[in-house]
Amino acid sequence: MRVLLVRPPVSEFTIGLKHIMICEPLELEYIGALLNNHEVKICDLLVENNFEEYLSEFQPEIIASSAYKAGTNEVIKLFRKAKTYNPDIITVAGGVHATLVPEDYADVSVDIIGIGDGTFLMKELVDCIALGESLWQVAGLAFPVAEKKLVFTEKKPYMPKADSLPLPNRDLIKHIQHKYYYLMHQPVVTMKTTWGCWYRCNFCFTWKITDGLPYSRSPESIVQELLTIEAEDIYIVDDIFLINKTRLRKLADLIKEHQIQKKYLVYARADFIAENEDIIAEWANLGLVAVFIGLEAALDEELEAMNKECDVSHNTRAIDILRKYKIDTYGSLIPDAHYTQKDWERLWKFIKDNQLYYVNISPMTPLPGAETYAQQKHLLTVPEDAHGFFDLSHIILPTKTSLKTYYRQLLKTYSKTILNIYRANQVTQRTLPSVWTWKYWKVIWGTLKIGWQFWNAHKHHSPKGIAKAQYKGEVPLSLSFENKFEHISFQQNTNLSKNAV
Ligand code: SF4
Repeated sequence: MRVLLVRPPVSEFTIGLKHIMICEPLELEYIGALLNNHEVKICDLLVENNFEEYLSEFQPEIIASSAYKAGTNEVIKLFRKAKTYNPDIITVAGGVHATLVPEDYADVSVDIIGIGDGTFLMKELVDCIALGESLWQVAGLAFPVAEKKLVFTEKKPYMPKADSLPLPNRDLIKHIQHKYYYLMHQPVVTMKTTWGCWYRCNFCFTWKITDGLPYSRSPESIVQELLTIEAEDIYIVDDIFLINKTRLRKLADLIKEHQIQKKYLVYARADFIAENEDIIAEWANLGLVAVFIGLEAALDEELEAMNKECDVSHNTRAIDILRKYKIDTYGSLIPDAHYTQKDWERLWKFIKDNQLYYVNISPMTPLPGAETYAQQKHLLTVPEDAHGFFDLSHIILPTKTSLKTYYRQLLKTYSKTILNIYRANQVTQRTLPSVWTWKYWKVIWGTLKIGWQFWNAHKHHSPKGIAKAQYKGEVPLSLSFENKFEHISFQQNTNLSKNAV
């Protein structure tokens, strides 16, 4: 079958990262790796603008796409467009948000929703469609049968053993690989070695999505993949990579044995770094250049309220240790909706005292799947289906100050942190390029664009702005929930509506 795997564009409302980083669509490369008995293409609309060409030239029979919550309406827009072009194209939505809230994909343009990791699921699904067999036998699917109504096949675990996954098929993005970058890291290749999490932070859905179970690849499997990668910069996108000392030591041994020379960007918790300086020292020698830490806040009470199981002293010690080994800290901070000027000043003092340069400041956002969502859902200031607002940059809980003041304080904190060349040179370690390079100015240009978006962000919250964020595209006239299953086989379940939930 001809299968088109599509990464949607970011919504008009999304603030931020698209201007300073675009990484490869790893989840689609994993899916593509097992579809080798079919014709597969990846269309990445973050770096391409030719979806219609893919439709007319490739003539896909199946289109699959995935997104976080912020991209939900973009996926639906794409599927509506595809169905307008050819209503027989089978559309499949997957990814984190489809797993957590599949009902959000109960749209007339969506045929199938994949729940859980899609690598093996898509293989089973596409093979089944190709053979004309009943999809009812494929566990982990949902089918929209009416607005907000789905029927589900049998439930299955989030994913199989991590080592059973194939290596991602990076050949599928060869034509666009040069377009991917992370800040000043280019070329950069992304890898994933763990799924889920061992901790239980209440603002995070990572541990929820895998039903509380973490999945990790073995050091042997990681090295096998590293040996296939040419690029020097490796961005390991695991929510926590530095976690298991035995695994890290074994991996370090294998990297040395194979004489692999790379630069690594990884995620870690502050408490791990604070308590395991020896591991950091060893990895600094192996090429660890930057560590992303969820610092989150500058007050212990705030960290406790997030169930972070870590305090501010861990944060400061972790930053000091990384600095000692000339590793840059990429810190993420989560200002609460109740922040007033005093709180912003405290946050800036924390950034200044700890000499942080790379920071990501994301207002606290109750995301489906996280515990805070259940507690704060009723407080949301935007409708649930204005998905673009859930981008971790908009504030969607009631603020103590005006929205404009909140966004301007956030912007001011960013500006003081980043837009000071002297400060940048003083506080960064290995990853800041010379100010005379295009890489440096590309990131600064991206940062200015983000700044402009924050400057205007309060206007997004107008009724017109919210209506735009809710827009899902034109519904193709020929589509209805009644006729949408004609081209998919359900031999064992003829009365779908009876099983709808
Ligand atoms: S925030 Fe980090 S440490 Fe906490 S649950 Fe999520 S992934 Fe785990």
